[in-house]
Amino acid sequence: MRALCWHGKGDVRVDTVPDPKIQHPRDAVIKITACAICGSDLHLLDGYQPTMESGDILGHENMGEVIELGSEVTNLKIGDRIVVPFTISCGQCWFCQKGLFSCCDRTNPNAEIAAKAMGHSPAGLFGFSHMLGGYAGGQAEYLRVPMADVGPIKIPDNVSDEQALFLSDIFPTGYMAAVNAQIETGDTVAIWGCGPVGQFAIRSALLLGAGRVIAIDEIPERLVMAEAGGAETIDFSKTDVYDELMKRTDKRGPDSCIDAVGCEASGHGAADAVMDRVKAAAFLATDRVHVLRQAIMCCRKGGTVSIPGVYVGMGDKIPIGAAMNKSLTIKTGQTHVQAYTRSLLKMIEESKIDPSFVVTHPASLEDAPAMYRKFRDKEDGVIKVVLRPGR
Ligand code: NAD
Ligand code: ZN
Repeated sequence: MRALCWHGKGDVRVDTVPDPKIQHPRDAVIKITACAICGSDLHLLDGYQPTMESGDILGHENMGEVIELGSEVTNLKIGDRIVVPFTISCGQCWFCQKGLFSCCDRTNPNAEIAAKAMGHSPAGLFGFSHMLGGYAGGQAEYLRVPMADVGPIKIPDNVSDEQALFLSDIFPTGYMAAVNAQIETGDTVAIWGCGPVGQFAIRSALLLGAGRVIAIDEIPERLVMAEAGGAETIDFSKTDVYDELMKRTDKRGPDSCIDAVGCEASGHGAADAVMDRVKAAAFLATDRVHVLRQAIMCCRKGGTVSIPGVYVGMGDKIPIGAAMNKSLTIKTGQTHVQAYTRSLLKMIEESKIDPSFVVTHPASLEDAPAMYRKFRDKEDGVIKVVLRPGR
């Protein structure tokens, strides 16, 4: 089959590789009908996720048609259209039983090493390095889906691929970010980052009762999409974010602050600083884009900071003392996708939200390398790329 493979920093290519096969009775194999490129894939493209190997297939936002099933998968049939959560979870361990699916103890064979080395032990993830299980991703024609009896959700015919696909990651991620923000009716919520995750956090915060959402970015088309979703906006390249948020909230600060940027996606040198302490110190001294720091400083006393953004190794300069003095609650996590898919699919079916709004660049699998670069460099108005293998 054809698949998008990682070959080193900045180097992704579409290669011909062996088709996946059933390896365990709880596996399924699907023919991918749609898959997306995520901000998290940029950490891999830029070479900041250790334990990648040349030839690894990327892609964790996947859906498709079931073409093969292991003997223990009784909830799916050949021909079903399914969306696959990016987190691979057994459904049976102590964490899965508590609904903490992204913390599954059984699907990442390297969990203990990852936990001790990096404090980093979520479940196995598709297309996300050997530290996180080494599972092949789905930016390909076919995908092996482990634990197919737990994660995937069947999609009814009247919901299109573009509407359903983001149940695999960014819709639950934006939604969990808003849940973690502990929004009370009428609250003011500030959201840093109007990428795909931020866009879903904006709409989810409003669905959960926020009175106002103030969205922060510098990319004009992303700010426009945030406004279309019901947010007020701040362009951080033109305005002092702290002063502006204080002005708009009677000097109190927003009730909740969501960091939908993370360290590497914030660009402007953050990514290159991650692996180098000297560069990191110099970069952090500028205070330019340390979004989490800004979110803590801006949040009102007694408020909540929610962090869906991914941080790799750049914990310095997080003002934990300020967080303590302001009595803040801080909530974060890789998304427990399986905990949200069914209720969010119902919202799509009831037309409360149509996730396809975020798609700006439909493309073929063969176009993927060019689309990766475009998405990384935020060129050509790109907000979300959806690849359609086989078309
Ligand atoms: P993206 O790169 O498309 O979007 C990030 C946005 O942040 C960009 O629009 C950028 O202009 C903006 N930004 C940069 N610096 C900023 C600043 N100082 N203030 C305000 N905005 C700023 O990425 P995405 O796909 O939206 O993903 C966002 C983050 O969420 C990434 O870190 C990604 O890894 C993470 N993520 C986490 C999970 C999870 O399970 N928690 C799942 C998916 C993605
Ligand atoms: Zn993702």
